[in-house]
Amino acid sequence: MKACVYPGSFDPVTNGHLDIIKRASRMFDKVIVAVVYNPNKTATFTLEERVELMKEVVKDIENVEVACFQGLLIDYMRAKNVQVIIKGLRAISDFENEFQMALMNRKLDNNIETVFMMTSERYSYLSSSAVKEVGSLGGCIKDLVPDVILHRVMDKLANKGD
Ligand code: ADP
Repeated sequence: MKACVYPGSFDPVTNGHLDIIKRASRMFDKVIVAVVYNPNKTATFTLEERVELMKEVVKDIENVEVACFQGLLIDYMRAKNVQVIIKGLRAISDFENEFQMALMNRKLDNNIETVFMMTSERYSYLSSSAVKEVGSLGGCIKDLVPDVILHRVMDKLANKGD
């Protein structure tokens, strides 16, 4: 069985992420969406919220499962016995960082391959931070995040800092 891990903060999940997940789910037997818990980075949505929102978004895609991890991605992958990391690429600015991470992960474990998927044009400008910025200033985030979580994301961003 060919499986892959799609790691990220997903703070919150956007339509850009969902697009990558759907496309990866057609290429692999199983996609594990791994939500990163990083105690040194403050996220807007708690780990539980990020996982819950992601579960809601992918609930109809049969071969996608949602999990979370802390620590080194390659340790998590070894534990799950998965060798492929999926990453989405937007602009050139993503490239440098992703390139470095992919090579570092390969250095740490030679069996790990990182597969890059080019963003769909219509999501190329989309990031979780842009969603948070627009949403917290009262802008419309419809079409940026999946409809099933739109209201929960809007409510959270509107009440941020309360
Ligand atoms: P971000 O805040 O940049 O959305 P994440 O850590 O949640 O950060 O992103 C997880 C993965 O999804 C990364 O590989 C990132 O490059 C990719 N990604 C994020 N947004 C998009 C998008 N709009 N299109 C394609 N890939 C994306």
